[in-house]
Amino acid sequence: MILGETGMLMSELFREGLIENDAEKLLKVPKSDLHNHSTKGCRRDWLSERLKIKLPTPPERFDGLMGMQEWFTTYIKPFCSGKEGGVVRWEGAFAEAKRNNIRRLSMNFGAQEIDLFGGMTEFRKMIEGFRSMYCPETLFEPELTYVSCCDVEEATARMDEYVSDGFFHSIDVCGGEDIKPMEAFVPLYRKAEQYRLIKRMHVGESGSAEDVRRAVEILGLQEVHHGIHAAESNEVMRFLADNRIQLNVCPSSNVKLGYASSFKDHPIKVLYENGVKVTINTDDLLIFDSSIENEYLLLYRAGALTADQLNKIRENGLRE
Ligand SMILES: [Zn+2]
Repeated sequence: MILGETGMLMSELFREGLIENDAEKLLKVPKSDLHNHSTKGCRRDWLSERLKIKLPTPPERFDGLMGMQEWFTTYIKPFCSGKEGGVVRWEGAFAEAKRNNIRRLSMNFGAQEIDLFGGMTEFRKMIEGFRSMYCPETLFEPELTYVSCCDVEEATARMDEYVSDGFFHSIDVCGGEDIKPMEAFVPLYRKAEQYRLIKRMHVGESGSAEDVRRAVEILGLQEVHHGIHAAESNEVMRFLADNRIQLNVCPSSNVKLGYASSFKDHPIKVLYENGVKVTINTDDLLIFDSSIENEYLLLYRAGALTADQLNKIRENGLRE
């Protein structure tokens, strides 16, 4: 089933929006966002308005993940830090889901963010409040994310506190590849399996095609966040296609962090043409100064993918 679709109408409107460079049409069409770091999931304009502060425009390129984090900490965080600042940004993330007609939304949340609320009960009340206020019809699939430098033993031991109430739908590890060997995360992913969480990880963003394959094999991932460097190996692409492993790709993030050379030559084209299941997502739209309809437009305008191909990718993300 494709969420929020009414026959051919939405596909037609979406293709028209791309061809006519009409963002308003694209905003109306149901879309998914399955790779979204919730605390950076609101638009800069929305946040500026809410805080009554003019927030600085981010640079065209960052110096990798570290450069991005530094920019965020220096220019955005001072205006919206701590629990209160986080709540404002979360509200903005749901406001954006409404504005952009996101019908399937997977946002990720860190364990330390939940701890700020003293545990799942209060945290969940706040998040579900925003969800029902802004986008009650959206299929909401929260993701629990750990940073790759975490203490895996401790994280595994404490996982029950966060997942036993059934709120979380998936697990992820982010925050830089190559921090520790893939095998170190096995206990975390085994535990996630007991709770039937969808297993995802950030891999193949800076890492290689082989890293993507190893992560899938060692940790039993069903989906990969990024995974774009898989496009450098026909063998790995075949492996991903055969095993129906979905890559949740974020074009602006890849270009602005320097992991893809341009929108025109973004690896999503090669991945799609080799039968790898891909979706298009925002990653950190507050930092990359984009939004989901714009991600599709950027790829279309650059000639990376056709309107038809982009529509098929959009539909992929909406399939339950
Ligand atoms: Zn990410």
